[in-house]
Amino acid sequence: RLPTIAIIGRPNVGKSTLFNRLVGKRLALVDDQPGVTRDRREGDGELLGLRFRLIDTAGFEDEDAASLPGRMRVQTEAAVREADVALFMIDARAGVTPLDEEVARWLRTSGTPIVLLANKAEGRAAEPGIHEAMALGLGDPVPFSAEHGEGIVDLFEALRPFI
Ligand code: GDP
Ligand code: MG
Repeated sequence: RLPTIAIIGRPNVGKSTLFNRLVGKRLALVDDQPGVTRDRREGDGELLGLRFRLIDTAGFEDEDAASLPGRMRVQTEAAVREADVALFMIDARAGVTPLDEEVARWLRTSGTPIVLLANKAEGRAAEPGIHEAMALGLGDPVPFSAEHGEGIVDLFEALRPFI
């Protein structure tokens, strides 16, 4: 079977945008509002010749804020357990949030290799967020722009050891 990559992270960081880019079909809904993608999506992805099964985690965007961490945890843990490597995505423009820090704490104990992806990194506005991400204890973040396709080669280099 193909190696599996799970894309995880809080709502609206750009997970489905990356999924659509790598899977090449619009299997996941993307919208300006968090709350569009309801279920997990899976597809066969390709990146500079690497082939893999890709999981886009979602299904909790419509939950109220109080229940979000717990719902997200269930979804994230299931995907990470199945994955050979997990792509943990943050929004570098928004910076690191308390929810990002909470997710990072479970990921550090998960046993699954993690690649930290600092998305929305096009332009200078992302620089403080990229710096903050270094403190998550998950290695150096890969600056990336799912929307603009920047950072593809660096993502390839980060994933290649695991797939
Ligand atoms: P998800 O909830 O994590 O799946 O996030 P989505 O993929 O639905 O994206 C949420 C919003 O962020 C959408 O408005 C996207 O167009 C936007 N977005 C995604 N990637 C980027 C990026 O690289 N740069 C910027 N500026 N916006 C992005
Ligand atoms: Mg989504």
